[in-house]
This record gives sequence, structure tokens and C-alpha cells, in this order.
Amino acid sequence: MADLQQTVNGCVKRIVDLRSDTVTKPTLSMRQAMASSEVDDDVLGVDPTADRLQKQMAQVCGKDAGLFVASGTMGNLISVLVHCEVRGSEAIIGSESHIHLYEQGGISTLGHVYSHIVPNETDGTMDLTKVEAAIRANDVHFPTTRLICIENTHGSFGGRCISPEYTDKLGALAKRYNSKLHIDGARIFNAATALKVPVERLVQSADSVSVCLSKGLGAPIGSVIVGSFEFIAKARRLRKALGGGMRQLGVLAAPALISLNDIAGKLHIDHQHACLLAEGLCNVKGLHVDLGSVETNMVFAEVKEDSRLSAQQICEALKDHGVLVMALSKDKIRAVLHHQISQDDVKHAIVCFQDVLAQPTESNGCLS
Ligand SMILES: *Cc1c(COP(=O)(O)O)cnc(C)c1O
Repeated sequence: MADLQQTVNGCVKRIVDLRSDTVTKPTLSMRQAMASSEVDDDVLGVDPTADRLQKQMAQVCGKDAGLFVASGTMGNLISVLVHCEVRGSEAIIGSESHIHLYEQGGISTLGHVYSHIVPNETDGTMDLTKVEAAIRANDVHFPTTRLICIENTHGSFGGRCISPEYTDKLGALAKRYNSKLHIDGARIFNAATALKVPVERLVQSADSVSVCLSKGLGAPIGSVIVGSFEFIAKARRLRKALGGGMRQLGVLAAPALISLNDIAGKLHIDHQHACLLAEGLCNVKGLHVDLGSVETNMVFAEVKEDSRLSAQQICEALKDHGVLVMALSKDKIRAVLHHQISQDDVKHAIVCFQDVLAQPTESNGCLS
């Protein structure tokens, strides 16, 4: 894409940035919308553009109301803290979930919420029997289970989707035990797109959802949490306490409205590109990709044992070719598609992978 270029020694170098879907740059129309956005003071609850975004996201998700928050981490933190506001609460979370692994344990350190970890299956779900077994009996020895969290799509398993049927079962289970269900829906729009169901249907059984605007949706900043009027009223108070009350928020809400209106409907293109990339990488010597696991906009490639390079070394070599991907471990590489990656970019990336992993004598040296 035209705006993903780098100038090296006066020459324009093509950059294909697949590190994450968070790396997108605001489009020209987003910047224009930011410049002309109608704003007021959102801490006073009267910024019209923030209001429009929050209402639209709530509507898409089929919930009463929404609240713009600074990040997905803040969205999850506030959601968990609202559901677990009574001291002595416990939340059931997946062993490979973002909330458990990548949010500094904030729900415990800041919110005094005890985490009960249930293993994630490789499809991103948690075994319902194990979840039910983790729910605490009413006993003076135990904290009180007040919340179950799932992640959809699941980032640790290559962006796999959780079905509405499973979500409904988990929601019913939560309800039966007087608990709430929170969905970390950082990429819920990708899940809905892949499953061909409206977002509203997918989150029907959830009491709250946190949706990232700055992942596949391509907005520069922020997330929106949605839930009941009561939930959002409490969330708004907590957001202020955490320092997340923002004044002329319309400046950030305006590009997010463009995401919802123009980008959300095109996520299937990213998914097609992910398939194309996965198929291409399958044919690269030294790599293995489980094609069945590629459901949305992520591709996880395994570096085979007989590869002459580690994942880290492959990433370094690709970087010299302008292709940016992430090494998740010594034998796992992640590539994430987004709206600023074209089909041609994907084809170029595949050729670069082939070149980097070819035996030295086979190198066609065509990439610079
Ligand atoms: C990115 C992400 C978050 C956190 O979002 P930030 O905006 O980076 O704080 C939470 N959950 C999942 C699944 C994510 O992918």
C-alpha cells in the first residue's frame, strides 16, 4: 500500500507490515473526519461524536449502551471490575487468554479480583465441564464466582472463532450459577465475519463485550465496551477513576465511525488474504502451517526442526526484505492481515519467505 513505504538511501522501499493488525495508519478519510469532527466534553457526557460511536457500537452488538475506553486492556479491566465489584469475587478465565497472559494481572493487582484459570482447548474454548467444575460452591472457604470470560477470536490460537452455540451454552451456564459472561471481543468483528453471523447474534448471551477499534477495524485508538445501561453507568464511573475520562473525545470517535461504516464490512478480504498467505507458506521449505486453523486474519507458521533458521532469524532476514512478521517463540511465526495489506503484498511476502528459507545456493536474490 502506498502509505506503507520506507525511504532508504533515497529509494522507496516496499514495506509489508504483518506484525499485527494494530499497525494500520489512519486513512486520509479518517484524518479528515478527525479534523472536522464535532466535539464537546465527553466527561460531561455531551460529546456528540463519541455519543454516536457508542450508540452505533451498542446497536451492532445488540446491547443497551456503549462506552469508549482508551484500550482493549482498559475495556477488559473495567468490565471485569464492574461485574466483580463485590470484594471476594472470582473470575473464571482461560489459561491462554489475553486477560490472563498480557494484561499485567490487572484484574487482581488493581481490582482485587481472584483469577480462576481453566485450560483453553486449542480451538479457543474452555471445556464446559471444566468451567462448571471451577464454579465455586457457596462455602466460607472459597471466593464467590461472579464472572466467566472468553475471548473471540482467540489470539493465542491463531484467531480461531468461538461459535454462537458454544457462547450460548457458556452464557446459560453462567446464568445458572448467578454469574455474568464477558467476551473479550477485541476481534469479534472478524469472528462474526468468518462465521457469517451478525455480531449481535454472536454476543447475544454475553453481559458485556469489549471490542477493539484499533485491531482489524483499523482505527488509530481505542475500544468500546457494551452492555446494559446499569453496566455502562458503572463502567463510566470506573473509567474516570482509572484516569480514562477524555474530554474532546469526538476526535478519536470520528475515525472509529469510519471503521464501523467502511472497514467492518470488508474483513472477509483480510481473511481471504490470510488463506492465500497460509497456502503460500505451506509450500515454503522449513515451514508448516495448519491450514485448518486459519479462520480469520491470522496465520501461525511453525518452523520445522530441520529448518536452518530459527523463527527469530527468519523474522530478521525478512525484515531486510521489508516484510515484517513476529516471532512468537523459537519455532513459531505470526503474520496478521489487515486492510492496508493488498493481495499483491501477500504474494510479495510469500516470495520473500521462499527466498529467505531457500538453501543458500537456491537463492534467487531477487528481493531488495
Ligand atoms: C489487543 C487485545 C487486547 C488489548 O488491547 P489493547 O488495546 O492492546 O490494550 C485484549 N484482548 C485481545 C484478545 C487482544 O487481541
